[in-house]
Amino acid sequence: MQELSHYVNGGHAKGGSGRFADVFNPATGEVQAKVPLASKSEVDAAVETAAAAQPAWGAVNPQRRARVMMEFVRLLNRDMDKLAEALSREHGKTFPDAKGDVQRGLEVVEFCIGAPHLLKGEYTDSAGPGIDMYSMRQPLGVCAGITPFNFPAMIPMWMFAPALACGNAFILKPSERDPSVPLMLAELLEEAGLPKGVLQVVNGDKEAVDALLDNPTVQSIGFVGSTPIAEYIYSRGCAAGKRVQCFGGAKNHMIIMPDADMDQAADALVGAGYGAAGERCMAISVAVPVGDETADRLIEKLVPRVEKLQVGPYTAGNDIDYGPVVTAAAKENILKLVQTGIDQGAELVVDGRDFKLQGYEDGFFVGPHLFDRVTPDMDIYRKEIFGPVLSTVRAQSYEEALGLAMDHEYGNGTAIFTRDGDTARDFANRINIGMVGVNVPIPVPLAYHSFGGWKKSGFGDLNQHGTDSFKFYTRTKTVTARWPSGIKEGGEFNFRAME
Ligand code: NAD
Repeated sequence: MQELSHYVNGGHAKGGSGRFADVFNPATGEVQAKVPLASKSEVDAAVETAAAAQPAWGAVNPQRRARVMMEFVRLLNRDMDKLAEALSREHGKTFPDAKGDVQRGLEVVEFCIGAPHLLKGEYTDSAGPGIDMYSMRQPLGVCAGITPFNFPAMIPMWMFAPALACGNAFILKPSERDPSVPLMLAELLEEAGLPKGVLQVVNGDKEAVDALLDNPTVQSIGFVGSTPIAEYIYSRGCAAGKRVQCFGGAKNHMIIMPDADMDQAADALVGAGYGAAGERCMAISVAVPVGDETADRLIEKLVPRVEKLQVGPYTAGNDIDYGPVVTAAAKENILKLVQTGIDQGAELVVDGRDFKLQGYEDGFFVGPHLFDRVTPDMDIYRKEIFGPVLSTVRAQSYEEALGLAMDHEYGNGTAIFTRDGDTARDFANRINIGMVGVNVPIPVPLAYHSFGGWKKSGFGDLNQHGTDSFKFYTRTKTVTARWPSGIKEGGEFNFRAME
């Protein structure tokens, strides 16, 4: 049995707490490794190492820090297949999807190569008589990130790439479900020239997270995961005086207007609803056709597409549409929610409950499910299922469809499919959701824009990546300077204004 490690102070370190979690191969159900769960003292030691390493890294000029990012990009491309393979093996997603996971993280690293430009301050010459004023963005010091299982490459990179480019040290606490890729990323960054101790990976569970929240040296916490944990970390982190951004769960609606191209809408829905087994925070989990005629046409197009989906292990090749879900517990939870949908009166038009894959009977595979006539009071509508289950809620008008998405507690992503520019524009302007697609089902912003949900999907003022991330990982200092020749004689007793 492989025993994984932490990555601290420039090398792998065995776990010292005596506590471990199982890392499964979700396709076979076998335990393939054990990951150590750090104790408070192990976390505190990593924080101390980070605090010792950070000042020198923060003093490296931004261009040199950017060069480390540049080399990291080259190494990520060099090792793309190796990373994607390790990712698929622990997460279960298909190999091309795993490459996408690495790629969307890599693109944020590419964005961070622009650090010299992004960190330029502001300067006002002669703000007053003989007075100049300038603002600079300085690193926070030691930053930490806690990441979910569903994007084990992308989300860690979304956090640590801007943090490091800004001159911080970073401690990553990845998901204990798929910790291998984060460890590989730490190795690659050091190969790229990052000094030791500047990026560390500490594996663990609640004990490690609480240790990060309680450690006064940790200046900021980034979190991505489920909403209850996001709320817990946000409130505890803020109470401890840290800068905190937390991103939570989702229930993303796609509105299908009567004028939409129904084939395009159905294709978009199968990809966005069932890709990665529905384990994406930007997955579409609710389809809202407007009008019964639209709904009937949509269901007619969807059913054969959903029935044809190919479910299997990543090793079966590129024809697989999606793989297993991450754990047996996740599978059980999904099937339980499907049962509540049936019990509460939704119509299960594609039933994946009896799905079995020969040779992989112990894997965590879940067949595709499609519900019609779901209503807003049902559990399958209110709760995040995070599985291959798409719910159709029939709306009788555009306003009703808009209202459904507006009233839902989550506000991560949404989409509208229509040919009508006025409707699309109205939707984009009025919707209270952070990321909106117009005929684009998964509107994940690119690296140079920023990513973040509203309502119960996002907590904190600043989003991930884009220029927001450079604000999150720095603080502003403003200097007002006057040289002796500009100083007049005598004390000044009135509060100075630049009249
Ligand atoms: P999770 O909340 O179970 O775990 C996320 C992280 O929190 C992990 O590192 C885990 O070890 C840690 N954690 C778990 N329980 C904890 C506790 N009691 N105290 C402190 N830390 C704890 O989430 P997950 O199952 O890994 O990921 C799936 C969830 O993440 C879904 O809800 C999904 O929507 C969400 N997600 C959101 C976004 C986004 O950007 N909004 C992106 C990806 C995933």
